[in-house]
Parts: sequence; C-alpha cells; structure tokens
Amino acid sequence: MFLPPSYYKKRAALAPKAAYVHIPFCQQKCHYCDFPVVVDDKPNSRHRSKYLEALRWEIKLTPGRRQPLTSVFFGGGTPSLLTPAELGQILQDLREQFGFAEDIEISLEADPGTPGIHYLEEYQKLGVNRLSLGVQSFIPELLQVSGRTHRVEDIETAIQQIKACGWENWSLDLIQGLPGQTLEQWELSLQKAITAQPKHISVYDLTLEPKTRFYRDYPEDSPALPGDELTAKMYCFAHEFLEKHGYHHYEISNYAQPDYQCRHNLAYWHNQPYYGFGLGATSYFDQVRFQRPKQLKAYYKWVEEQAIFGSIEMLDYPLSTKEQLIENLMLGLRLREGINLTQLLKKFPAGTKTLVENLIVRQLSRFQAEGWVGKKRNQWFLIPPQGFLMSNIVLANLLLELENITILD
Ligand code: SF4
Repeated sequence: MFLPPSYYKKRAALAPKAAYVHIPFCQQKCHYCDFPVVVDDKPNSRHRSKYLEALRWEIKLTPGRRQPLTSVFFGGGTPSLLTPAELGQILQDLREQFGFAEDIEISLEADPGTPGIHYLEEYQKLGVNRLSLGVQSFIPELLQVSGRTHRVEDIETAIQQIKACGWENWSLDLIQGLPGQTLEQWELSLQKAITAQPKHISVYDLTLEPKTRFYRDYPEDSPALPGDELTAKMYCFAHEFLEKHGYHHYEISNYAQPDYQCRHNLAYWHNQPYYGFGLGATSYFDQVRFQRPKQLKAYYKWVEEQAIFGSIEMLDYPLSTKEQLIENLMLGLRLREGINLTQLLKKFPAGTKTLVENLIVRQLSRFQAEGWVGKKRNQWFLIPPQGFLMSNIVLANLLLELENITILD
C-alpha cells in the first residue's frame, strides 16, 4: 500500500522518544513495595532467562517509528541484578529497533548491595549514563524495618564505586514517613545525601499500598507512623534544606542541580508518548495508555499472542479529549513550572476553550488565596513547599470539576 510522506511525518511527530524497560527481579520484597516484582536474584535462573527472552521478543515485535529514542529508563524490580551481558543484549535490541539519539540519556536503577554495583564500569561502557541509587535511608533500623536487603555499609560502598568510576550524572532516592522515623533521623539522611553530592535527589513520601506488609502491619492511625504533622515537617525541611544546597525542587518529589533533571521522567510529566516494555509496564502512544499484565504467566501469554499477530497490538481505547486534558493538568501541575493554560487549550474551539478555561481558573484561584497556587500570565503552578504538600487537595478539586463537565464528552 502506498502511503503519502505526510503519513510518515505525522506518525514520526507523535512517535515516542522515551522507553521504559521493567526488570522485575529483586532479592526480597520490601515491606512497602507494590511493584510487579519476582523474588529471584540468581543469574541464569530459569525465571530470569525466560523473562529476558520474552522481554526481548516484545521489543522486537514493537514497530519502530523513524524517531530515535532520547531516553531509556531501566526500572524495577532491581535492574542492577542484570549482568552486563544481559543488559547489553536489551540495549542492542532497543538500538536496532528504534535507534538512539546521539545524546540519549540511559538511566538504570541500582540498589546498594547488588552485583551491579561492581559492574558500574561495564554498564558505563554499554552506554548507561545515569544511575539512580535506591538508598531510601541512611539509618540502619529504618532499612531493617522496611525490609531492605542493604545495610548502610553497602550504601557507602556503592557511593565509593560511583565516584571511583567517575560517574557524573547520578541520583539518590530517600523515603520519608517510615514507621518509627524521627525528624532528626530524616535530617541526618538528607545531610548524608548531600555529602555524597549526587546531581539529583528523589524524596518519596511513604504510601501504604494495599497488599503490602506495611499495609497489613500499620493501620493509617498507627502510633508507629510519623503522622501528618510530622511528615509535613519532614517535607518542608527537605525543601528548605535541599534548595539551600543547590538542589532545585522541580517536581513534587524530585530535586536536581541545574541541567540534571531526569529527562525520562520529564517526558511522563509533560504527558509525552513513551514505550513501555516488560511485566506490568505501561506504554502511552497513539493516545492509548496500555498496561501489560502484572503476573509473569499472563505476561508471557500476552507476548506469545502478540507474536502470532506479528506485531504488538495495544487493545485498548484511545483516551478521550477530556481524559487527555485531565492527564495533562494532573501531570503538568506536579512540575514546578506548572501548566500554560493558553497552550493547553489551544486546540479547543473558542466557546469550549472559554468555558473550560474559566472552570479551571475558578478552581485554581480558590487556592491562590491560600498561597498554594501561583500564576504568571496564563502559567499556573503550585508553590512549594505548601502548594506541593497540598497538591492532593488542589488536584482532587480540579478533577472533580472537570469530570462533571459535559461539553467535552
Ligand atoms: S527493591 Fe524496589 S522494586 Fe524490589 S521489592 Fe524493594 S522497593 Fe520493590
């Protein structure tokens, strides 16, 4: 079939430039974790080779779109359980299928105490140029209570290795709100984090996800949990402290030194299309958000079915205009820069645009008075730390209002 060049131009313009690859293996399940993970840390195990085979198959079955990738993110699970040979094969498949931009960002999540910490140089040689170290806490008791396998000594070794390899672009993750955590312990972890001098720091607030051990062990009002007042103090302390030390609070949970924001995650928050590969991974392109099965058996079956079709099919409905607008708002407002309403609504016909804009402005203005929301021309944003801290309230109100609007249905 002949297709005009404009067809390819349009497809390329909408093509994903980011790819997420899920590596589900972990040494053990942490007590707060609800990610799709498989407890198996043995290289060459039956699980491991079968999974990697299915994953590589999925990549090869996904049609490329004449648009090289500008970011790849290996998340998990624990990608630092991969040997350099395993990682190299996946990278080669991605490169062959989609192509890599010259300045591609390739990130890998690494856990202290995993073999990958000793492969850092090999990972670098394969093209990995951003590392995200899952520290979570520098306090031994908190690591233990969370079911982490690493110790503080492992964190120190990992940081030494990162420095020894001359790794420039790396990030460190911390969690606040852990059972028994005090403000002093939180301050100490943040102090140790900045002493290590990563370019990027992620600060996550503990959420009690159903089906996790924490959910079972700690009811929301459990006295062992720090409680709202204390976690708010922790959040505000992190904001003041990290900003003072040169880390810009660019997203609700993320801080970076200038030019070191995570390119891959920015694609999510800007609601741009991306590929997703592997167990439970979500992809988003052609306005379809599609999540792969979260159980290994079902995932293998899905990949096999796709192989029968000869290419990956996302059997799901495209997002409606209203759903797309809601997603753009919910994701964009997570960023310090916020959203530009003129830009966001430019595709709408004049009448609809005015109505929707008035509605959004009415909601956001309510929170301007509280000092949580700011505005510069038609750029609206949450003001940290209070605005970020209260983002759930602002976003929930906005969502409720937009869901009830019928003009976009
Ligand atoms: S290492 Fe990460 S992905 Fe694995 S169980 Fe712990 S939190 Fe979950």
